[in-house]
Amino acid sequence: MRVSYSSLENFKQCPLKYKYSQIDKLKEPKSKEAVFGTYIHKVLKWFYQKDPHFPTLDALLDYYKESWPKKSEGFEWQDPEEENSYFKEGIRILEEYYKTNIPHQTSILDLETRFEVTIDEDPDKPNKKHILTGIIDRIDKLPDGRMEIIDYKTGKRIASQRETDSSAQLSLYAIGVKNRWPRTDLKNLSLSLYFLKFNEKIQSQRTEEDLEKSKEEVIKTIHKIEKSSFEPRPSPLCGWCGYRNICPIWKHLYEIENQINGENVKEKIDEYFKLKEKKEKIEEELCNLKNCIEDYSHEKGLKRVFGENGYFSRTVHNKVSYNKKQLKEVLEPLGKWEEILGIDQKRLDKVLKEIPQELRDKVKAAEKIEKKYKYLTSNNVSKKELEEELE
Ligand code: SF4
Repeated sequence: MRVSYSSLENFKQCPLKYKYSQIDKLKEPKSKEAVFGTYIHKVLKWFYQKDPHFPTLDALLDYYKESWPKKSEGFEWQDPEEENSYFKEGIRILEEYYKTNIPHQTSILDLETRFEVTIDEDPDKPNKKHILTGIIDRIDKLPDGRMEIIDYKTGKRIASQRETDSSAQLSLYAIGVKNRWPRTDLKNLSLSLYFLKFNEKIQSQRTEEDLEKSKEEVIKTIHKIEKSSFEPRPSPLCGWCGYRNICPIWKHLYEIENQINGENVKEKIDEYFKLKEKKEKIEEELCNLKNCIEDYSHEKGLKRVFGENGYFSRTVHNKVSYNKKQLKEVLEPLGKWEEILGIDQKRLDKVLKEIPQELRDKVKAAEKIEKKYKYLTSNNVSKKELEEELE
């Protein structure tokens, strides 16, 4: 299988998103954040391509202004104020960047370089070879002779040192560099995430053992992809997913057609929530009435209390538990012990969280779907609130 870091991340985020992009080959419409990020990458690439005749800050900003994404390039800003904020943010980012990165002290080995690495799952089986691909934003040769891989980030969040140390992306890039220059000593390879919004670079390193683990992780994810039924996995990240208008989780938000068998589904949904609200109020009233009747019958020591339309009976039920050992001693000789032992799904889920992944996979392999249940669950979050959340 041929996989890239981003496709593996897509799968981990949401199997359906992976399917849309890698199997169905549907082009994902870019979000404004993604367009902005691509554009800043383009400007920085242009800047370093001028090596050794690096442009001045003014020239860099001129290039930025001239090449700001136009409508004709397939992206249209919906809100001019928003466009202006992004535009100004780009200028601020580049000014800050220029101040702290003296271009003449940088020795560029490569820019936006592509790599392909073969990962052998089983050297004897040709169909167990996988190709891992990726694009590294920048590779520098440092003044002390070491090498540095730099990946630019334009997001609103900065990763912690711990996240950088465990970043799968940086590990896969290190694998790519080792493949290209096999004599690279990992001790002399610095891996950096450059958070442009904060003008902060977080650096990390990897060992040979880390890279082996990353390869194993890639293989495990590939196995999951091979077995996947590509179900959608909604999460807050859906806000950045370009497939929302075709994804079965969100698509209905964007649909105008709502008729089925002459009925308007949106009206039915609204009616459902109105009735649900009424039901909840009625349930609360019923509960208050029951408490009052219960108090009365308890105080008077009555087992039954009567109204004109019906009566209430007061009974006591004991919730029992058994001594497992004693119960086993009675039932096992009769061959009935196994019959009462069932697998408690809740307890199994709890145990699964406590055992290693390898054993979890074995339990998963023992799983058999007996029956499929279809549930329709309701959530009374308004359409307006949802749209705001997804923005
Ligand atoms: S919108 Fe969410 S659930 Fe749907 S494909 Fe995208 S990430 Fe998956």
